[in-house]
Amino acid sequence: MVGSAYPSAPGGFAGRPCYRRVIAAARTQLLDGHGRAISDLRLSVTDRCGFRCRYCMPAEGMRWLDRADLLTFEEIERLMRVLVQMGIRDVRLTGGEPLVRRQLPRLAAMLAAIPGLHELALTTNGYQLERDAHALIHAGVTRFNVSVDSLQRERFSEMTRRDVLDKVLRGLATLASFPQAHPIKVNAVAMRGFTETEVIPFARFAREHPYEVRFIEFMPLDADHAWTPDDVLSGEEIRAAIHAVYPLEPEPRTPSATARTFRFADGRGRIGFINPVSEPFCADCNRIRVTADGQLRTCLFSLRETDLRAVLRGGADDDELEAVVRGAVWRKELKHHIGDPGFVQPDRTMSAIGG
Ligand code: SF4
Repeated sequence: MVGSAYPSAPGGFAGRPCYRRVIAAARTQLLDGHGRAISDLRLSVTDRCGFRCRYCMPAEGMRWLDRADLLTFEEIERLMRVLVQMGIRDVRLTGGEPLVRRQLPRLAAMLAAIPGLHELALTTNGYQLERDAHALIHAGVTRFNVSVDSLQRERFSEMTRRDVLDKVLRGLATLASFPQAHPIKVNAVAMRGFTETEVIPFARFAREHPYEVRFIEFMPLDADHAWTPDDVLSGEEIRAAIHAVYPLEPEPRTPSATARTFRFADGRGRIGFINPVSEPFCADCNRIRVTADGQLRTCLFSLRETDLRAVLRGGADDDELEAVVRGAVWRKELKHHIGDPGFVQPDRTMSAIGG
């Protein structure tokens, strides 16, 4: 992990001629060096989670970040304000499990109040939705992704190491009772040797409930570094299995979308496939990430990070903060290299990056 360049070189970035041109040229829109407009931020608010999903972390959990290392709500709000000025329009709150962070609805309300923010979304394992759905919606969260990898109690418990499927499904139903929360996405990580028997039950679930189910290919971001390409059950395999039972029709892809969505030919719902391994969607990627401890990651698979926490706590003003963000995003990776010779899995795990 390469440290940030800001603290050591006053005027480091901002002083360089190329950066003055970059700042002047795109003050209103954040661009990377490949000409992509960056408008979507995934913001992790904690690395903690009560689940122990096998594709994410070991049974004993991880060494959690200390509270002092986490960005405070005020630091997050300031950073979001500057990022929205630079063209970030959609912010997704992630974790670990974001609802583990105390008073998360208060943070959501602070962010939802930022002028220019278009959409505030949340990805959750659903465990605390029954408790928090009302407060989140009234705080301004408009989009919800709920992670559910199996609809069968034993298998859910086998995957998450927690026997709480009922509570998660009650949380989903609570969320669904709020019209403002729709469309609700239900995300299932697809793993070979586990998900095959979940495919049709999930298709039926999407047909019988107001949820859009999406299958996400297993990615090499697990804490055990045990991922192999053979563990990936591809979106195309799942699509074909569903189509054989419930015919599907493709929908046009929205630019920068991660999912390829299909509607059931008989009109009973939609289903999606997020295929970062078999069908990468990097070409029009518009996303960056900030971790709970304030590190800017320009790609999910970045091998370097930029320390924004040091900038926020180092006395920098908003223009200097902006210059650091622009400098880092200008070097955003063109794509991930999963499957390429020499692919290196990042040190930071999915639980500490956020979806
Ligand atoms: S792997 Fe990186 S470049 Fe590709 S879509 Fe994800 S964040 Fe964007």
